[in-house]
Amino acid sequence: MSSTLFTSKLLWGPELEARNNQIVEIADGLIVSVRPGSQEEADHILPSGQVLMPGMVDCHSHLALDARLPGHLGLMEDSEAKQTIRALKVLQDNLRAGITGLRSVGDRYYLDVLLRDMIEQGSLEGPWLQVAGIGMKGLHGHGYVGKSFSGKEEFRRQARENMFHKTDWLKIFITAGAPPANGHVNCFLTREEVRTVVEEASSCGLKTSAHCIGGQGLRYCTEEGIDVLDHCYWVTQEDIELIIRHGTTVCFTPGVFMDDTRLPLCPPSHVQSVLRTRDEVKRRLSALVAAKPKFVIGSDAYHTYLSKDIEYMVELGMQRKEALKGITVYAGELMGKNIGVLQEGYEADLIAVSANPLTEPGALADPAFVMRKGVVVRS
Ligand SMILES: [Zn+2]
Repeated sequence: MSSTLFTSKLLWGPELEARNNQIVEIADGLIVSVRPGSQEEADHILPSGQVLMPGMVDCHSHLALDARLPGHLGLMEDSEAKQTIRALKVLQDNLRAGITGLRSVGDRYYLDVLLRDMIEQGSLEGPWLQVAGIGMKGLHGHGYVGKSFSGKEEFRRQARENMFHKTDWLKIFITAGAPPANGHVNCFLTREEVRTVVEEASSCGLKTSAHCIGGQGLRYCTEEGIDVLDHCYWVTQEDIELIIRHGTTVCFTPGVFMDDTRLPLCPPSHVQSVLRTRDEVKRRLSALVAAKPKFVIGSDAYHTYLSKDIEYMVELGMQRKEALKGITVYAGELMGKNIGVLQEGYEADLIAVSANPLTEPGALADPAFVMRKGVVVRS
């Protein structure tokens, strides 16, 4: 199946270079060429003024956790059927919002694996997924979507069970979600437990991701070779140097602390910690941004609102173009997939937005056109 698309402007290649009056040829879900051309040659013409770009990738999500719902954390105790139905809606909503890929870092019942495979096989429409199966946390630790384990052999067993179910990632939860009042960040896993998970993952070619805000947990994860540190709200200058030295990827999720619309949907204790520590979290995240680590960006289950995180990253001092790469180019590199770039040879996951996202704040919200693997899902 092939098609041609005309656009008056697109963002080409890994540097998101603006090019005018282009034809994009698509065959079997892949971009086969991008070249100058005219409307007459195209099957589909995007209205003048719209900008075509790679689909967005939410690099930190959970399919059955929907942070748009009041009391969403409690809903993680729902039945498998309810959670699966919720995840189906989440996938549809994301796709229509131009999020053509998601990295889901912890769900129950292996529903993430099932949905990934159904989408892959074409029996379900949705963004492509990379998934982590059961997130692993300490018996006394944090993580609403995780399950509890204690001792390295328990972590090993669950790591292997995840891999038996063919997850793409292994995910651990090593610290709390928000900084503590006394300033000490508890660490809920031992160094040995972290090392065991990393060992198991690397022996089967999987990557590892850790929910981690800072403290001893951050040092364990970085030194033991965890691939992605999620959140990093409470990093110190020393932590930042460690992250840079080890080349660890940071997954920024700024909206959790910076988006006021999320607060009424969260428990009062969480709201209090966010309000108490927000300024300091922003200061620390800005210092991390300034150090230029390898990074990607995620909404942490605030489905469809990933574009807001771009604005928060800009507020934290990141260049707008760099932030855009964090949900496209760098996401593709992290997942090891040919996605996130509008260029020959990449998957035809494309969106068209109403203004140039390299210069216009808010341009990414509500794209007018969404294509997933060469199929138009919104226009
Ligand atoms: Zn999360």
